[in-house]
Amino acid sequence: MAGYNPYENMLHVLDKAAEVLGCPRNDYEFVRYPERELTVSIPVTMDDGHVEVFSGYRVQHSTARGAAKGGIRFHPQSDENEVKALAAWMTIKNAIGNIPYGGAKGGIKVDPHKLSKRELERLTRMYVRRIYPIIGPDQDVPAPDVNTNGQIMAWIADEYAALSGKWQPGVVTGKPLEVGGSLGRNEATGRGLLFTLETWCEKNHREMKDLTMVVQGFGNVGSVGSLLMHKEGVKIIAVGDINGTWKNPNGLDIEAMYVYANSHGRSLKGYTEEGASFIPDSELFAQDVDVIFAAAMENQLNASTMEKVKAKLILEGANGPTDETADKYFEEHGIEVLPDVMSNVGGVVGSYFEWVQNRTGYYWTEDEYNARLQKKMREAYEGVYALKEKYHVTYRLASYMLALQRVMAAQKLRGFLG
Ligand code: GLU
Repeated sequence: MAGYNPYENMLHVLDKAAEVLGCPRNDYEFVRYPERELTVSIPVTMDDGHVEVFSGYRVQHSTARGAAKGGIRFHPQSDENEVKALAAWMTIKNAIGNIPYGGAKGGIKVDPHKLSKRELERLTRMYVRRIYPIIGPDQDVPAPDVNTNGQIMAWIADEYAALSGKWQPGVVTGKPLEVGGSLGRNEATGRGLLFTLETWCEKNHREMKDLTMVVQGFGNVGSVGSLLMHKEGVKIIAVGDINGTWKNPNGLDIEAMYVYANSHGRSLKGYTEEGASFIPDSELFAQDVDVIFAAAMENQLNASTMEKVKAKLILEGANGPTDETADKYFEEHGIEVLPDVMSNVGGVVGSYFEWVQNRTGYYWTEDEYNARLQKKMREAYEGVYALKEKYHVTYRLASYMLALQRVMAAQKLRGFLG
């Protein structure tokens, strides 16, 4: 959308958070700038022999609280500015999750669906060679994000081992189990979102089984999150992915959709269900439901879509799905937003658990993992909630306030150079 600048968006909320906290600009000026931005070109010999050069990015927004940490996405629209905003959101998120990391993000401008598996592997390995000097288990730890998965993380770990001469699984998270991944990590973001919604229900005296919902996006976050919420009784009447929007007023068969998407390359293309029909994508947010679960991409709820919304709650599974204008509109219209940096923190908290296991060499059961995740999600929510109540602000502003306090406290102790 013209004029949409996610980094500016982030800065506005950050400045507002500082203002409410009464925090002088000097104390947080450093958070307004990414510490390091790396742009790389990645030449790949394609299967037909011709060479293509892709653009890649890795932005380390902050290392104040520990190693930089955040996913890598493969997307045709990925660029410096998007990755910069996503990196800053990771700083905020990791501080809210209270895990010992700063924030980073990476991206390659590519449509991975157009590449063969071998091309994808070559692209991934060459990207690792390019960013090798700035990543490492104590430096910067990538993970999956949009269009990246366990296989890609395994290639990253392997290329890093080849370059460094030793196997260091803690250099990347979201790995398959066979190469140092953790039980529970694949579901961690979706499960974390379930815990977030459960806490919201508790605070608002609502029951999961009475909620109706629509879902935008059916990748890892959207599909796992939907499945777990559906199992708790949430009635999901519409789901949209890049192939269309399915609606069943009696509730979609989310288990069938989940199984279908997972056996069709995470796509719902060709999915059919008795009682379900297609509606225009633009009608998804207009459905008369309690909750919109936004689990696709950034900037979906904006000036041109916000007025359609009838739901009273937005659950952000994606990063940055609500832009500034829509955020303001929702606040004015009594629509609550459970923001990305709090609600989807389960993904990176789960990555932290994987990293801890890699470094200790002792692996947990899935039950242990999920119990720890639940505890962490609860702490994140309560930390934000306390500030929200104290200052009478939105969840998003309270989230930034909490993160800002934590990032500033760390940086203050470490001191500034210069
Ligand atoms: N890509 C996920 C996120 O946006 C996970 C990042 C990570 O585990 O480092 O939070």
